[in-house]
Formats: sequence, C-alpha cells, structure tokens
Amino acid sequence: MYNISNATEEIPVTKKFLSVTGAVKNPKSFFVPVGTSFRELIELAGGTALQDYGIFVSGILMGRLTFDIDEPVTKTTAGIIVLPINHYLIDRMKRPIHDMNRIGKSACDQCSYCTEFCPRYLLGYDVQPHKVMRSLAFTKTGERVWNQYADLCCSCGLCSLYACPEDLYPREACNQGKDYLRKNGIRYEQPKEVKVHPMKEGRRAPLKMLMKKLQLTDYDKATPFEEIDYQPRRVKLLLKQHAGQPAKPVVVLNQKVRKDELVADVEPDKVGAKIHASIDGVIKEITDNYIIIEN
Ligand code: SF4
Ligand code: SF4
Repeated sequence: MYNISNATEEIPVTKKFLSVTGAVKNPKSFFVPVGTSFRELIELAGGTALQDYGIFVSGILMGRLTFDIDEPVTKTTAGIIVLPINHYLIDRMKRPIHDMNRIGKSACDQCSYCTEFCPRYLLGYDVQPHKVMRSLAFTKTGERVWNQYADLCCSCGLCSLYACPEDLYPREACNQGKDYLRKNGIRYEQPKEVKVHPMKEGRRAPLKMLMKKLQLTDYDKATPFEEIDYQPRRVKLLLKQHAGQPAKPVVVLNQKVRKDELVADVEPDKVGAKIHASIDGVIKEITDNYIIIEN
C-alpha cells in the first residue's frame, strides 16, 4: 500500500518493505532497495544454519518456491520464508504436475471437503474444486466439462494445503482448468445469484491448526520491524515486476545513474510500470529481462 500510494503521487518506487522469516537466525521486517538479492536478505536476518534450503516468496499459500538465492526483490515481493530442503511443503511443491494429477486420479474420493472449505465457494461463487478433480479421471473425452467450476478460483491454496484429508492438489487442478479456459477464450458465467453460504463464519480455517498442518509451528515467530539503511553494491532490476508488458530500458551500458532515475519505461499504448534506479551506480548489464546497476 505504501508503494501504491507513492506511485500514485509519481514518487519512484525504489524500496520495498518485506519480512524475512522461517529458518533464519533473527526473523525481522525492514525496507531494502528493489533489486537486492535474497542472499542479502537472509544475511540481514542473521543468516541460516541450513546448508540446503528452499525459499517461499511472498507467502506459503499463495506464494511460490525458489531455490535461487540470487533472485532479486521486486516491487511486489512481500517477504521470504526459508525452509529446510526436506520440509513437507517443499516436497509437495516440487512434485511434478503429472504426478499430482496421477495421485489425484487414484486417491480423490469426492468427499468435497475442498469445496466446503473453499473461501470463494463460501462467499457464494460457483467454485467447486471437488468437481474439477473429477476431470482427472477422464482419459478420452469429457474432462473439460469440469473446468467451469475452477474459473472463479483465486488460487488461495486452502483446498490443497488445508482442507483435503488425502493431501491432494485440488488448487493445482483448478489452475490447470483456468489455464484451459483462458487459452480457449472461454468465460464462465455464474448461473446463480452470488449469495454468502450460511456456514461461512463457522468454516474459517483456524490459524494454529493451519500452521500445524503445514508443519510451520516451529517457525511461528514475530518479525519485528527494524529501521535499516541497507545499501547493496549491486541491484538487479527485473523489467517485468508488474501486470502488463515488461518495461523497455532507456539507459545504455556504462551510463551513470542516480537513485530514483528512470531506467526503463512503459511503451506507448501498453500497460506496464516504469522502473527506476534503486541505488546510485553504473549500468553494468542490460538484457531483455533485467538491468544490473553496480556502484
Ligand atoms: S478434499 Fe481431496 S479427496 Fe476430497 S474431493 Fe477434494 S480433492 Fe478429493
Ligand atoms: S485454491 Fe481455489 S478452489 Fe481452492 S480453496 Fe482457494 S479459491 Fe477455492
């Protein structure tokens, strides 16, 4: 919100507030320049004792997993969570989609817990992941008919990570269904009125139970805010950190830039966002995907 507020006032968004938690020595929250690496974030949080680990970016349920510690912070990075390489959640996320489908096909018993706990379903939208799971059992034809029940899914992950007693992947099945609908230009129209489910309040997922199910209780620690003025020697600014088209570089190699200076702009008539230098320095590398500044 802070950055959105700045952007609406034409103030360049060059730093990001985020939290670093999980298996780090001193979980904490702070501002860092956009383009700072995850490696530096972990060091700023006291480092980790782990040799091998994965990093969840911007949350567990709706975030993504990376093993690249040189990945940079973007304007939308909400935080990172460091977990051991053998953690339950990493095992789950690493599983290839083909295996998720195969397991779902053989183990889903259509109990419909995934639907009954789905926050979108409880709000009255026609999202029914248990029906989408049926598509996995079709091998010749007919599996697409179930995709309509995925269209209004927001990919929150509660069905896969909390509701399903079989530890299956209804969220991932919904994602595949939505991809198919989008690629084929199909828009599902909800046939019935959107009406909040009478059990909505009683079906909230209790946070402590969720943490236990996700095997995160040991990492349930505060991330106090710390005022730091971290100045990295090098930043990597991704050209696509936003919705729409990647920004186009407006700088050249070896050009000196000052913090807040425009380094990549939105093309005319395209949707996108400007990118500004987050440190003073020299342009060291320009590719189709990023710009590197060093000082
Ligand atoms: S909760 Fe799991 S087992 Fe039950 S219908 Fe959904 S995916 Fe199938
Ligand atoms: S991921 Fe989709 S289907 Fe699953 S609980 Fe969230 S909104 Fe519902």
